[in-house]
Order: sequence, then C-alpha cells, then structure tokens
Amino acid sequence: MATIKPLPELLINQIAAGEVVERPASALKEIIENSIDADATRIAVQLLQGGIKQMRIADNGVGIAKDELMAALTRHSTSKISTLEDLQNITSLGFRGEALASISAISTLTLTSQKADQIHAWQVQVDGRSIKQPQPASLTKGTVVDACDLYSNIPARRKFLKTEATEYAHCEEVVKRMALVRPDIEFSLHHNGKLRYQFRVADILQRIESVLGDEFVQSVSSIDERAADIHIHGVVALPAYSRASRDKQYFFVNNRFVRDKLISHAIREAYRDVLHLDRYPSFVLFLEINPADVDVNVHPTKTEIRFRDPRALHQFIFHSINKSLSASSREVQAGLTD
Ligand code: ADP
Ligand code: MG
Repeated sequence: MATIKPLPELLINQIAAGEVVERPASALKEIIENSIDADATRIAVQLLQGGIKQMRIADNGVGIAKDELMAALTRHSTSKISTLEDLQNITSLGFRGEALASISAISTLTLTSQKADQIHAWQVQVDGRSIKQPQPASLTKGTVVDACDLYSNIPARRKFLKTEATEYAHCEEVVKRMALVRPDIEFSLHHNGKLRYQFRVADILQRIESVLGDEFVQSVSSIDERAADIHIHGVVALPAYSRASRDKQYFFVNNRFVRDKLISHAIREAYRDVLHLDRYPSFVLFLEINPADVDVNVHPTKTEIRFRDPRALHQFIFHSINKSLSASSREVQAGLTD
C-alpha cells in the first residue's frame, strides 16, 4: 500500500463537489441561495446549454468586499455562522461554506461583486488550478457569478450528465422552487438567449399562479394553521386536481425546499380517503418552525432534514391538511345542494 498523505486542495474540492453540486441544477440552487442570503430583491439567471456550458446569475444583493472575494471561494469559509450555537439556529440558506469552492473546482468561475460603498466592482477568476488577484470591474451594486464549462475537468462526472434538455428542466425546477418561496423577489430565467420566465414581485397566490398556472390555483384549498412555535400555510390541490406523477409537490421548511418521508407520509394520509392510490396530491406548503427544532445539517444539499419532534409534526401537518380539505368538500357539497 502507498503511504498516507493529504489530498491536494483542488481534489478535496472536486470530491466535495460530487455531493454539493452533483449536476448543473445543484450548482444553480447554491448560487441562487447565496443571492437570497445576500438580501437580493432581483435575481437574473442566464443559462447556456442546460447550464452545462454556462450559468450566469446576477443579483442586486449586498455584495462581497474586495478583500473577501478570495475567502468566498475558499472551502469552509462562510459569513453566515461562526459558532456551534449558530449552527443550531440556522436562519440563512447557506452555512457550510463549500458551494463556491466546489463550483470553482468543477468549472471556470468568475465572481464579480460590488458593495454599495465601493466606487467600482472587483472580479476574481478561478479555473480550478489558480485564482488571480482581484481586478477592477464594472457592475452596479450586487454580485455576478459566472460558471463556465461545468465538469469539463471531470470526465467521469460529465459522462453522468443527462441531455441538455433534461439538465435545463432541472434548472428550471430550481428557479420555480425559489420563485415559489420568495414572491417578494423578482426572478428571470433565460435559456440559450431566450427569456423563459419572468416572475415579478407578487403576493403568494399570484406567484403560485405564475409558476404553476391558473388551472392549479383554481383547484386549491388554502391552509393557515398555527400551534405553539409552528405555522403552516399555503395551498393544497383538491382531489379532483390529482396527478399521475409527483410534479407540483412543493414543501418548504423555513424557506428551504425539502423532500422528507415523514412530511410526504402525513400529506398522503390526509388525502387517504379522497385520493386513489395511483394518484398524487399537489401542494405548495410553507412550514415555519423554530430553527432550533430542526436539523438541516444532515446532507450537503440540505434537502433532507431532521425534526426534533417528528410525531407532533406529522399530526400537525395531517390535521391542517385534513381540516382544509374537509372544509372545501363541505363547501362543494353545500354548493351542490343549494
Ligand atoms: P455559504 O453560503 O455556505 O456561506 P458559499 O460557498 O455558498 O458558502 O459562499 C461563501 C460566502 O461568499 C458566503 O458566506 C457569502 O459571504 C459570500 N457570498 C456568496 N455569494 C454571494 C452573493 N451572491 N452575494 C453576497 N455574498 C455572497
Ligand atoms: Mg452558499
């Protein structure tokens, strides 16, 4: 056996990238989350060839100071947490400090940013092997992340990418999720030079309509339930709107899109008597819970989470949906007998 030695930094980042940025859409999710954490109110996404050739995300957030640009690209460097207590009370979307380092290890990345108090922007470029010192650049306040030729230096991963259309579809889904959870932010999405989506600032129902269509919003029942330290709101589709696949299932916990078995089970149970087994419910639900009662640090992509009291949460979700669905079906019945 060979001797034990530390891995080079680039290889460490490339290994981490396998988990954090498995495909273009995961890189896009991380970059948009950074814009949201930076209090952006406008986020513009431009993709070429499903995001594989290029993804360029421009925001009008707080920006990164010139002397912190290098740190932003360094693994395990973050402005979002600094102690274990912070980790137990996460209020930002990011906190692991590995996204930009990982993305820069699998692409050619240019980071340009301007803080409000700077007279011009600064730019750094990384191509895996080297980072150049920041250069002056021009931009209005905010940050632009430009990643080109994703995975071109990792042929093994590149081989696993699907067609351009499939990778684009995943990216589009990421933008829709972000748009649903933040109707107060304007989003635009271009693919290969064509504008695909533009979501202007709206209230939540309007935003749901622009993302999921008017047919969906006309077939929903709304939910707004509170218990101690917990709040669920949003809409669930009436059984008649059920789908043959799991599309249009959006559940957010503290503004984070999650896929969770316990939550899915609670929702499924609430629909049990009204939905055929081979049909799937649609919903857009937002759960607000004390950050200390969830652990989001379970998986690098943070779509899996753990709850401190899963049984109570299951009950709460089940009852909230059940109540909303029965109220709607009573209304429908009353309408029929009128
Ligand atoms: P994390 O989000 O977990 O902190 P990242 O690697 O995604 O780690 O980002 C590193 C740091 O770079 C962030 O903590 C933040 O300070 C800064 N940063 C990244 N993107 C932006 C952005 N769009 N606007 C302002 N700051 C940013
Ligand atoms: Mg981040």
